[in-house]
Amino acid sequence: MEVVVAAVAWALSAVCGSFPPSNTLGLCGGKPIESLLRGKLSAGAQIYLSGSDGYAKATNRWSVLDAPTTNIVVVPSVANDVSEIVKVANSMNVPYLAVNGGHGAITTVGKMKGGIEIWMDSLNSVKLSKDGKTATFGGGILSKAVTDSLWTLGKQTVTGGCECTSLLGPGLGGGHGFMQGRHGLIADQFVSMDIVLASGKLQTFNASSDLWWALQGAGHNFGIVTAVTSKVYDIEHPDWAYVSFLYTGDKVEALYRSINKYLLQDGAQPVHIINYSFFFNDPSLDPHKPVIMFYILQEGASAVDTVYTQPFIDIGPLMTNAAGGSYKDLPEWTGNANDSPPCQKSGLVNIRFPIDLQVYNVQAQRKVYDLFASATQETPALNGSLFLFEGYSTQGVKKVPHRSTAYPNRPANLLVAPLLTYPPGGKKLDRTAAKLGESLRTILYEASGLKEKYTYVNYAFGDETKQNWYGYESWRQDRLKALKHKYDPLGKFSYYAPIA
Ligand SMILES: Cc1cc2nc3c(=O)[nH]c(=O)nc-3n(C[C@H](O)[C@H](O)[C@H](O)COP(=O)(O)OP(=O)(O)OC[C@H]3O[C@@H](n4cnc5c(N)ncnc54)[C@H](O)[C@@H]3O)c2cc1C
Repeated sequence: MEVVVAAVAWALSAVCGSFPPSNTLGLCGGKPIESLLRGKLSAGAQIYLSGSDGYAKATNRWSVLDAPTTNIVVVPSVANDVSEIVKVANSMNVPYLAVNGGHGAITTVGKMKGGIEIWMDSLNSVKLSKDGKTATFGGGILSKAVTDSLWTLGKQTVTGGCECTSLLGPGLGGGHGFMQGRHGLIADQFVSMDIVLASGKLQTFNASSDLWWALQGAGHNFGIVTAVTSKVYDIEHPDWAYVSFLYTGDKVEALYRSINKYLLQDGAQPVHIINYSFFFNDPSLDPHKPVIMFYILQEGASAVDTVYTQPFIDIGPLMTNAAGGSYKDLPEWTGNANDSPPCQKSGLVNIRFPIDLQVYNVQAQRKVYDLFASATQETPALNGSLFLFEGYSTQGVKKVPHRSTAYPNRPANLLVAPLLTYPPGGKKLDRTAAKLGESLRTILYEASGLKEKYTYVNYAFGDETKQNWYGYESWRQDRLKALKHKYDPLGKFSYYAPIA
């Protein structure tokens, strides 16, 4: 069968006037591969060619810098479709990339040129197991669908904090979220996965496989997950509350000193507390400098306890807000709901320069605030940028043995990243933004006293080292390389933070 496919591809490449066949897709606008696929896909699968509404929707991305280029979108409706797409693409030597929520911003994905986007959107099923301890999700399910569908069953699991990203995009690289203090990362919930490998073979993996370790932290490198079974939990604490404080920039030292002292507590932040802050520009609040939004989220409460809020009231915020509600309100409160600005795909460049920290260095916080302030004033195109400081509770993450998964930095307390946002178009602006992002994280890294610089793979800019993404221990790197060699020797899945 492979031979027939290759022969047809060859013939079609001749019709299209392209040689070698890897060019066929680009020159013929996806038509030859479309013809090959039509006969192989299930009735529910969709194919979108450039110019169609479906294509526009499927290829719309959160960040447009170094986005992958795609000539055809295929939307599988069953797992076997993914297998067929991979086999056909391999036979034509055409690259392919799984796309889910479309929020993967790492610039390495831009190395996919003229390939097939496998849009996972239709694989969005949810099935609770009989014993209620796990659920099986389609490989294209988005966070909100996970939370909402489980909630109606009295269950929940760890997802990213944002409604619009997928379960697997974050999860394959670890996956931070509001429930991680209780249960660990998204990846820590995985129990088994159905994966289409680079050969096109669909195979089920679980903890008994050598690949399992790598799927929990470096999982974007090995295949396309068509379904994942994850641990789910009874909803123990449906109630959550938040309080937010808006501060002017003169409060930087007081704010981050207090977060260290009253919340982080040397890595002992209470499991029911999350703190989250960001710098941003709003001339109506301060015409010259960024302001700081700071949230405390508390699980199992209808209002955040004063023991946590009083130190931050004492700092003297410009404004405060507070509400009680349920777990499902968290994305909206923190600006991560489907209709919140951070979820939108507005044709902008969105690049982050992450760094894991243990504690806030107060002097360094001042330095990065001042640099963020001056740079976003000097370059008005960067004015919509944010500087994110995420302080989830970490008990669940730390209790998983550090060596047991490819996720490389379980001891971290803080996930920090400037998010530089600007309209695309100028190489000079790209360079200015990248230089700023790098300078900001370098200030924090140098002040941290940390020997190793970890840059969370799902927030990474794209120019970091493999050690920054996957760990400094040589055994980690060796193990990843060996698995890559075994499962994806030709590097078919080497666009998102590639191991090799
Ligand atoms: C607004 C926003 C909020 C975020 N919040 C969080 C958060 O709370 N926690 C967190 O950890 N991260 C968060 N992130 C980062 C997020 O983890 C990454 O951006 C991630 O890549 C998004 O996944 P996606 O499916 O939306 O993007 P996509 O671009 O669709 O996917 C990213 C990559 O994942 C791989 N992939 C996706 N689906 C599959 C699959 N089924 N099988 C195999 N590979 C697959 C592909 O390599 C793809 O290039 C956030 C990002 C944004 C933009």
